[in-house]
Amino acid sequence: MNIIDCHTHTQFSMDSDADIEKCIEQAVKLNLSAYAITDHCECNWWYPKEYYADTDLSEDFNYQADFENSVSAVTKLKEKYKNFNLLCGVEMGQAMLAPDIAEKIISDSRLDFIIGSVHQIKNEKDFYYIEYNKMSMNEIYNLLERYFIEIYNLCKWGKFDILGHITYCLRYMKCRHNINPDLSRFDDIISESFRELIRNGKGIEINTSGIRQGFGECFPDLKYTKMFHDLGGEIISTGSDAHTVEDIGKNIPEGIKTAYDAGFRRLCFFRNRRPEFTDI
Ligand SMILES: [Zn+2]
Ligand SMILES: [Zn+2]
Repeated sequence: MNIIDCHTHTQFSMDSDADIEKCIEQAVKLNLSAYAITDHCECNWWYPKEYYADTDLSEDFNYQADFENSVSAVTKLKEKYKNFNLLCGVEMGQAMLAPDIAEKIISDSRLDFIIGSVHQIKNEKDFYYIEYNKMSMNEIYNLLERYFIEIYNLCKWGKFDILGHITYCLRYMKCRHNINPDLSRFDDIISESFRELIRNGKGIEINTSGIRQGFGECFPDLKYTKMFHDLGGEIISTGSDAHTVEDIGKNIPEGIKTAYDAGFRRLCFFRNRRPEFTDI
């Protein structure tokens, strides 16, 4: 089985301190067919913290510096690991909240691979920080509706390569508070988003972090992976969303099985922003 892990973080993400060379060594040891380092770059928080004076941000960050440090380190290490399929990527968050920054990021010719993610909706907290237990089910469904609208707008824009972990916010709801909303009421907007991706020649990832973090399924699960396939989607990658050396490649075989069960027979990664395929 060709194992590809196209969603991983290193020391250049503010929520990881995984040594970048140790990460690559681990990926080599696991004999991955493709390994992309995709450190966080949140477009709406591109500038240093001081720039966002009137916000109550609890964490220190500097995504502009992280982006440059990650991309230049990976670019250099690609030379050192010439015989290994190391890809220079980024997980670009909230492109639609700062499109000028997103344009700047996507124009960087050192990038092989761009994940487009939504971690936050305009003027709302990052999904990680929301206190779902203080919300009614109605409010949760309204929040999910805003999330899927944001995803739709991102897919319509479509200047990334792979849509990141669609439905991942369910993890916080279920794992922390045992809240299990039924997503079927959003099937129309999800399928419209997939159509936009397909129209733009883009794809989705199967993010396996949900398995190791107790959600029990990938993001997205089999139902939505199959929906993407049945609409004509061809571009699908797998990613562990590892933030530690140990988590690289974790549960990727389950992610590949999800892809296979949905009808896919090959996986995709991007090199120089162009899709390349490996058989499952
Ligand atoms: Zn993410
Ligand atoms: Zn990630």
